[in-house]
Amino acid sequence: MAADDEALPVFLKEIADDPRVTIRRSEPPLKDAKCVVYWMQRAQRGLDNPALDLAIRIGNELDLPVLAFFSAISNYPHANLRHYAFLNQGLKDIEDDLAVRNVEFIVRRPPNNSLEKLLAEAGAAMLIGDESPCREPERWRKVLAKRLDMPFWTVDADVVVPSALFPKHQYMLHIMRPKLLAEMPKYLVATPLVKAQRGWERPRGFESFNVTGDVTEGWKTLDRSVMPVDSFTGGTRAALRRLEYFVAHGLADYARQRNHPEIDGTSMLSPYLHFGHISPVTIALACEDAVREGMATGAARDAYFNELIGWRELSVNFVKYVPDYDSIECAPEWAQKTLLEHAGDRRDPEYTLEQLERAQTHDELWNAAQTQMLKTGWMHNYLRMYWAKKILEWAPNPALAWEWAVILNDKYELDGRDPNGYQGIAWALGGVHDRPWFDRQIFGTVRYMSGASTGKKFDSKRYIARVMATAPDLWQR
Ligand SMILES: Cc1cc2nc3c(=O)[nH]c(=O)nc-3n(C[C@H](O)[C@H](O)[C@H](O)COP(=O)(O)OP(=O)(O)OC[C@H]3O[C@@H](n4cnc5c(N)ncnc54)[C@H](O)[C@@H]3O)c2cc1C
Repeated sequence: MAADDEALPVFLKEIADDPRVTIRRSEPPLKDAKCVVYWMQRAQRGLDNPALDLAIRIGNELDLPVLAFFSAISNYPHANLRHYAFLNQGLKDIEDDLAVRNVEFIVRRPPNNSLEKLLAEAGAAMLIGDESPCREPERWRKVLAKRLDMPFWTVDADVVVPSALFPKHQYMLHIMRPKLLAEMPKYLVATPLVKAQRGWERPRGFESFNVTGDVTEGWKTLDRSVMPVDSFTGGTRAALRRLEYFVAHGLADYARQRNHPEIDGTSMLSPYLHFGHISPVTIALACEDAVREGMATGAARDAYFNELIGWRELSVNFVKYVPDYDSIECAPEWAQKTLLEHAGDRRDPEYTLEQLERAQTHDELWNAAQTQMLKTGWMHNYLRMYWAKKILEWAPNPALAWEWAVILNDKYELDGRDPNGYQGIAWALGGVHDRPWFDRQIFGTVRYMSGASTGKKFDSKRYIARVMATAPDLWQR
């Protein structure tokens, strides 16, 4: 939707042209209002958050305070206790970082978590939101845009290069990369920490949840079967500590170490990126600093940026433009055809979803990868590829394999339910962003990974021993 040029204040007209911004309702800010509201969903942080920055800028221009609202909903698709515990740990950091910026943090839980009610109670002039390309949150934004009676703008806050600069699906990373690289100097820049000039006085009785409490308390329908993990602590502080460690100890040798699941050679920042506890810009700028200070080479940084910005932003692009991103329907024509031609091939062995979930296969390496995910909420990238391809090999058919991979990934990974996951599964099972290889059983021309050769590319015995040492009691097998 375009900005209504005639009626908008000049400063808003300028902002309206920013490719990071989507105008969902374009009318001017409401008159006689009391604040600007930032509806925080995806970008759960008070630092390096372009959506928050925009809300503060607009508040300052309108001489209004800013309020950040987080609605903790109990029925987020496929979220369970493990995910909510991580989210919960992040809330205090958000509150603290917002306080430094003179922004009040309001958290509400069902049944009193209606955004529209909050907007009315607070007397909002305008609503700013953040963005996620996934189906459900985008649907909520669309529904809301129809129902609201005030301007509603959203900001693409969790990518380096705004995703709107790519108006259609990019079929290969090598096609997208040159444009990403060309735009990066413009967007990979530090933003000043701007504070709200006007503070918000919370009216007496204005409800907000104490962020140190258990946000899931009393939620009867929440899946509590997947336990929180102590391998990751949620929040911006923990994310920044992990980043600092990675830049000091992992970045320089990232290109080599990233293919060695037996050591911790990657940044392990994906859960923090998923929950928006840290911005990809913060991470990338820390890497730039490390190169400037001689701690890593430009080549090491580029290898890391290829994942952090290249593959990650290709995943956002994929989910944004391919409606069936989490099922076999999203595979390119050649892949659907070849998988169908091989759908009748004998699966030997063939496993049930329950056997896979419980890590009860004949393949020790696969079981260890599944165990790593079950126990720590994270799996190494090299094994995620292997893990998904074996599900294709052992499930009764490719459509079911896809469904099972999505179910398991979203249920157990802390970083699950993310564009990266849907893209990763689509790459592994359906040749998305890949090319056809040699024809073989079950896979057709979709790229294959054999256990024997995968296990030889790194110290798989050490990996298995490490994982199993952390999970001796798994399912009492
Ligand atoms: C089958 C399969 C499922 C996957 N599921 C998920 C998922 O649910 N959530 C998720 O965030 N990632 C997923 N990935 C991508 C990747 O495996 C993880 O992002 C990565 O292992 C996270 O570890 P890290 O933070 O140490 O990564 P690093 O190697 O340190 O990379 C830094 C960041 O770059 C991004 N990144 C790295 N590799 C990829 C990739 N291949 N595709 C897209 N982005 C990438 C991630 O945000 C990551 O945190 C999946 C990949 C596959 C093949």
